[in-house]
Formats: sequence, C-alpha cells, structure tokens
Amino acid sequence: MQSENIANNWAFPICNLKLPTPTRRVLAISSELPISNCQLIKSVVISEEEARRQILNKVNPLDKREVTLAGALDCFAAEDYFARLPLPAFDNSAMDGYAVVAGSCKKGGRLRVIGEQPAGPDRKLRVGDGEAVRIFTGATLPQGADAIVMQEDVTRHGTEIEVNADIDIGDFVRRRGCDLAEGQMILRKGERIGAPTVALLASQGFADVIVGGRATAALISTGDELVKPGEELQPGEIYDSNSALLNALLLRSGASATTVEHCRDDRQSLGDAIKRGIRNHVLVISGGVSVGERDLVKEALCELGVKIEIWRVAVKPGKPFLFGNIGKCFVFGLPGNPVSAFVTFLQFVRPAILRMMGATNLDLPRVPAKLALGLTNDGDRPHYIRGRLEHEKFTPTGRQESHALFGLSQANALLRVAVGQSLKADEIVNVQIWD
Ligand code: AMP
Ligand code: MG
Repeated sequence: MQSENIANNWAFPICNLKLPTPTRRVLAISSELPISNCQLIKSVVISEEEARRQILNKVNPLDKREVTLAGALDCFAAEDYFARLPLPAFDNSAMDGYAVVAGSCKKGGRLRVIGEQPAGPDRKLRVGDGEAVRIFTGATLPQGADAIVMQEDVTRHGTEIEVNADIDIGDFVRRRGCDLAEGQMILRKGERIGAPTVALLASQGFADVIVGGRATAALISTGDELVKPGEELQPGEIYDSNSALLNALLLRSGASATTVEHCRDDRQSLGDAIKRGIRNHVLVISGGVSVGERDLVKEALCELGVKIEIWRVAVKPGKPFLFGNIGKCFVFGLPGNPVSAFVTFLQFVRPAILRMMGATNLDLPRVPAKLALGLTNDGDRPHYIRGRLEHEKFTPTGRQESHALFGLSQANALLRVAVGQSLKADEIVNVQIWD
C-alpha cells in the first residue's frame, strides 16, 4: 500500500492548517505572554518528553496507607511482600481418587481401602503396600502414599478397588512448595494489585495491605456552549462529553473524582470552581486553555496563585496543554477538543496520578502491531494516531482530527508518529493501549 501523509487523512480529509515555515517557527519560540494581574506565563512550546519529565519531577508519591484486602484492588503495593507459606502448604491430592504406593499398584491388581481423607484436618493416615486411602482434591497426602489413582481409573468392589491404569510415582500429587516457596517475593513495591494478586495475598493470610495513597481529583469542564447530557440543547450548544470522558479516565487511573462541575467562560465562576478544585491532589480542567479571548483558565489560575509550570507542548493533538501547581494540588489544563483531552490525559495526567499512588510503571502498555497502511508525519509535532488493534494489526479509525470523537470511540490503541517519521504498510510498530 502507498505511504500516505497523515496530515492528509487516508480515509477522510484532515483540516491541517499549513503555516509557512517562518511563521510556524515564530510561534514555536515566542517566549513570554503577558497576562494581566499575574506573573508572566512562559509560553515556550516544550517537547512531550520534557513536559513529562517536568511533571514527574514535581509530583511525589502520597503517604502510604493500610487497606483491607478487598480495598486493595487496583492499588499499588507500598512495600515488598514475601510468601509466609509455601504453596501448596503441604503435599496433597490433585484429584478425587485413592492415595496409593505406586510400586504396589499393577494395572488389573486390587488394593484394600483402609480409610478416607477428605480436604480439611489431616487424619494422619498411613498407606502401605497393597492398600489405598479414599482421598479428595486438596486433601493431605497420607503418609507412605506417593501417587493418586484417580477415581475414573478404578472399579470399586466393596472395601477394595481394582486399578485400571498404570500408576507412576507422583501421579496427581501436588508437592509442598511446588508453586511458591516460603520467603519468595510475591508482590513488589510499586506493582499494581490485580485480582490474582489479591487472591495470592489472601492465600498467604494477609487481611490488610500497605498501599500507596489515594489521589483525589476534581474535574471542571469549561465552556458557554456546553450542556449537561439529558438537558435540552439550544442551537449552537453541544453536550459536555469531556466530563464523562475525563471522569472515566480518572477512575481508570485509580483516582476518585470528588467533584465534576461545569463552569461558564467567566472569570468569577471559573475562579470559584478552581478554589474548590484545588483542595484535591489533582484538578483537571477541560477547555479554556488555548489562545482565544474566551480561554480564561490561565488567568484565573494565575490570579489564585497557581504556578503555571508548563503551557503548550509539542504534541498533536493537545498543544495547549497546561500544568501548574499550588500547595499539594497539581493542576492539569487540557484542551477542550475531546481527542486532545484524551491524548493529553493519557500522556501527562495518568502518569502523574500513578506516581502519586505509588506506582513504578507509569507507562501505558505497549504492544507490537502490524501497520495496516503507510503513514508519514510531515508536521512539526509528534502525532498520536487513534486506531484499532485487532489480530495484531493496527488500523487508524475515522478522522484524525482533535474533535473527532467517533473515530476515537472506535479506537483501542494509539500510535505515536514522530516528526518526520515515515512508516510503511505492514511495518511492525509499537502501539499504546489503555483499556
Ligand atoms: P476550547 O479548548 O475551550 O477552546 O474548546 C475547543 C473545542 O472543544 C471547542 O469546539 C469546544 O466546543 C470543544 N469542547 C470544549 N469543552 C468540551 C466538552 N466538555 N465536551 C465536548 N466538547 C468540548
Ligand atoms: Mg472553551
């Protein structure tokens, strides 16, 4: 397949404003933007890597806490955990059947059943040559036994069994410690606690776990045009979809959104909402961070004393991204276009939240995929292409424009195409996945 320019969409045309190069360069290096009543905002457009580095340098893990095992799901271990018990903790049967001495079993031979050992307390039975103990899955292996004949391989004759299979030493015996040795590390500090880990901790008798802190978050969506889903739209209005999007992303990142509020584009209500929001560890603001006169977030933040560390990052979509700090709160201003909000959340907000919660791995999972079609980025910013990863193949979905929510909704992976990068159809690329 022919390589295509991602600035000119393969399936649908992209509106890509091509500025003459000198103008673009001037935009990229303009240094200071005076804002009334507050400090000058540095407006140097920094790279994605630099933005991420600065954010992660600022953000520290929150205080650790003890939670019940049930409450530990999706938290991050704040300590290393080691096995208190081997797994299995004792030799036991892998089947319902009969515990035997393998050397005394012959196919067609008979054994005398001398007792029964169910799962539960060890009855301390002993098996000798020519004998068998009725046994059930998970029950302690009787002394002297070295194999289990499964129920399906015997014919019962009163107090005797006839063995219908060849039996070898170790058949259907689960040996103590074969899965996990005592003292072995079972959970490393900074690892996410998933369902199997919760089970593993439970198997070791842990009722509580020490985990990283929980980041609380507030969400403000800004815009006079926005209407809450469920309400009636007037001409020119749109439904607020970013609140739903960002709330979902916050939840997926492990942060609980304490408030989700909509704010009109006026300084007073924005200021009030920000004052409430900065009581949290994280404040995410959608919209109003760009360069228009109606983009009031920067000014409102400045007026409240928020130190703006980053404004504008060389990333597509998402250039107007903003990051600031006041007290214990970190403020993330995301561009209002839904795909920009999505991409900047995943690239900048998610890792910050994970760090606060004590995670070690802050990256989205990456998987190799065969590219369905060639792509070239001849723009001046790395471009995150939204696409569908299916059967190890990545296919871009829909319009690759920052407002194109439907295309995003069909996607399950992001492909970062660096500036100047040209990728060929069928080339193996690494894509990021989030769900
Ligand atoms: P802004 O970043 O505020 O200039 O908004 C950029 C674009 O995103 C505009 O087309 C807005 O209407 C749209 N937008 C802003 N906020 C939202 C939102 N919460 N939900 C959906 N679209 C939004
Ligand atoms: Mg707006």
